Amino acid sequence: MNNTKIWLSSPHMGGSEQKFVKEAFDANWVAPLGPNVNGLETDLENYLGNSAHVGALSSGTAAIHLGLILLGVQAGDEVICQSMTFSASANPILYLGATPVFIDSEDETWNICPIALEEAIIDRIAKGKKPKAIIAVHLYGVPYKIEAVKAISEKHGIPVLEDSAEALGSSYKGQKCGTFGDIGVLSFNGNKIITTSGGGAIVTKSKELKDRAVFFATQSRDNAPHYQHSEIGYNYRMSNICAGIGRGQMQVLDDHVALRRSMNDFYVALFKDIPSVTVFISPNEDYYANYWLSAIVIEPNKALGIDRESLRLAFEDVNIESRPLWKPMHLQPVFAKYPYYGTKVAENLFDNGLCLPSGSNLTDEDRERIANAVTSFFGVKK
Ligand SMILES: *Cc1c(COP(=O)(O)O)cnc(C)c1O
Repeated sequence: MNNTKIWLSSPHMGGSEQKFVKEAFDANWVAPLGPNVNGLETDLENYLGNSAHVGALSSGTAAIHLGLILLGVQAGDEVICQSMTFSASANPILYLGATPVFIDSEDETWNICPIALEEAIIDRIAKGKKPKAIIAVHLYGVPYKIEAVKAISEKHGIPVLEDSAEALGSSYKGQKCGTFGDIGVLSFNGNKIITTSGGGAIVTKSKELKDRAVFFATQSRDNAPHYQHSEIGYNYRMSNICAGIGRGQMQVLDDHVALRRSMNDFYVALFKDIPSVTVFISPNEDYYANYWLSAIVIEPNKALGIDRESLRLAFEDVNIESRPLWKPMHLQPVFAKYPYYGTKVAENLFDNGLCLPSGSNLTDEDRERIANAVTSFFGVKK
């Protein structure tokens, strides 16, 4: 059996990406605008349904930044953010000079805990400042508690920025993730479920808001023959070359979701008889997950030498990539000084959780190597 590296999540081309890229070259649309940018936006709008309006941007991080601006976040404001996430969810809060307030996870979806969320809102208001926005994340493609978060958002009049960077193709009660928040965010980074090599999108509920996002993303140029600016702008638009890759990827998105979901099924079967391991699955059928990454939680056993780090090293020995879950933001040196509400749900998940190879391009041989590594690690230990 070969020993090439098995990645957590690597780009998986569908076949027609180069056709769209070639069209861009042939027509000399080698610029951050053009037919592929418009085409990708239309493809995404059709895919998401729910009258979504989509603006293609240079990254998911850029989409979060512009999303917070559209929600009116300014220097000195507070913004609530799920603690267990990638740092890109929180960094744009700091770009704006605002203060993040981090919230623990609940243990069913691993996403923002509605109880800690409401506790935080009430406490921040009592301390004199009503938070300006709530950033909720669909971690690893499993939808957050949509109804509970929406109810709290409406009760307190605080909008939700839905970080759906990991959840394109996921849905809740049949509605696509990315369309639940006041603003939605998608990412097409190289490791995501589909990729434009690097890129992202903002999802809005009106064309006016989408146009406003694109205005900011193209240096806030006023309507004038010369360069005229009344507001601070950003260079955040997507390249027409990247968008060509995205158009090809949209043709295989649903296939990729099905393949990622079958990787999750594979892990459920693989760990079925290993009592110290729980595979992360969504709470019930309402939550349709793309399983961007499959993840497990390992109950550590000192006597048997089992914990997430020893399993990670056992994978590494046979050239298989695995990685601890996102380290919660409130435990990150750069964010440690900001307020945090909750207990230790996210922290415990980080201590014992591991993401496993999940790509839509994994082969039967890859799965066999993963199964062999697991069997030899737990074989003598369970
Ligand atoms: C990937 C990711 C982002 C950032 O997207 P980029 O396109 O890489 O900037 C934001 N939030 C989460 C949860 C992500 O996983």
